[in-house]
Amino acid sequence: MSVIHHAGRFTPDDRAASTWQYLPADVPAGCAGLDVRLSYERIGGILDLGCVAPDGWRGWSGGARDRFVITPNEATPGYLPGELEPGTWHVVLGLHRVPVQGVGYELTVTTGPTAPAPEAAPPPVAPPPPRRDLPAPMGLRWLAGDFHAHTRHSDGAHTIDALATLAAARGLDFIAVTDHNTISHHPHLAAAGARAGLTLIPGQEVTTDSGHANAFGDIGWIDFREPAQSWIDTVAARGGLLSINHPISGECSWRQRTSAPPVAEIWHSSWRDRRDGGPLSWWAVQDYAHVPIGGSDWHGLGVDSLPGSPTTWVACADGDVLDGLRAGRTSISAERNGPLLLRVGDELLVLGGEGTVLLSSAGAGRSCGGSGPTSPGRPGRTCSNRSTGSCSPCAANLRNLETPVSEESSLPCTMTICLSRSVCAG
Ligand SMILES: [Zn+2]
Ligand SMILES: [Zn+2]
Repeated sequence: MSVIHHAGRFTPDDRAASTWQYLPADVPAGCAGLDVRLSYERIGGILDLGCVAPDGWRGWSGGARDRFVITPNEATPGYLPGELEPGTWHVVLGLHRVPVQGVGYELTVTTGPTAPAPEAAPPPVAPPPPRRDLPAPMGLRWLAGDFHAHTRHSDGAHTIDALATLAAARGLDFIAVTDHNTISHHPHLAAAGARAGLTLIPGQEVTTDSGHANAFGDIGWIDFREPAQSWIDTVAARGGLLSINHPISGECSWRQRTSAPPVAEIWHSSWRDRRDGGPLSWWAVQDYAHVPIGGSDWHGLGVDSLPGSPTTWVACADGDVLDGLRAGRTSISAERNGPLLLRVGDELLVLGGEGTVLLSSAGAGRSCGGSGPTSPGRPGRTCSNRSTGSCSPCAANLRNLETPVSEESSLPCTMTICLSRSVCAG
């Protein structure tokens, strides 16, 4: 066993020189484990924590942890277990917040036998609620899901099994597990999904001070230290999908200058005041370039909206969620059983949206008396769906319907967002 000690003070000049600081630790051959502990002055300072080995990235916990363990067979969630190759490893510190007086820190790296804290046992699985079957085009089926959730593999409070069990109990067919800057959860998703009875989609929330984006698919780790354009290019090259997260969300707003990734989280759970036109305005000024999805960004009970709030529906063939997302066949509702606006073939359907009025971009309206077909959904019209009464700014948008069909060839199906008076009033 050996102990390596680092101590010092990071200053604003250090932060200006580089967000990332690398503190070395030599690992001998045959090492049984690595145990890293960080302490720092937390008055105004936030340091992120991660690890890179000679052969590559070994994990990240951001500001959520001050200790991690890696051994050949197990690791702290967020980090990759496996043989500890001999050589110089580096603890990565992210200078997330550095006040003017600087941040004093101490880091201790111990090599030798160690073990991570045990994880909680999987919770019991409850029977799911009855399915909500929606009318769908021939050969497709609408699946209910959520494209944004966290576990203990980053700053979530619960295990993968706990997330999966809760999502299944809320009637979701799928949920993307999008822990920050790590994919240590990916190897566990298939088994946890099978236990709970839903599909867990591999994801990574690529997280920086200048914006967050979800990379979907079993496509390996995306290096968040690289420029954002490389995230888009790498994810596309590996066959995944990149989605801008919560583009308007305070300090976590999207401020990256890139080409348009294929997807965006137009409806994030923080969009609680539906009279706030920000998310839809952002999407509009992007010329509706992104397939819209929703995300709860669930971190734990009592912390965020529950999984499925909002719910993103994807019309899927053979249960392939990412293929349906890539094709743009999405619709979003506030809850799984909330009002919905769907496109089925040539028709637009409002389900549970009594009292709403469909408006064209020019303001012409059509009243929706209730559930069922409401309007010919001919391509060539942009609609917004405004509720009557006090929630007049609330809207459901039909994406790009005013664009000629030929220009929609890469996104053949209509994307819809649905908000309704009942949602707004809630
Ligand atoms: Zn985020
Ligand atoms: Zn998140």
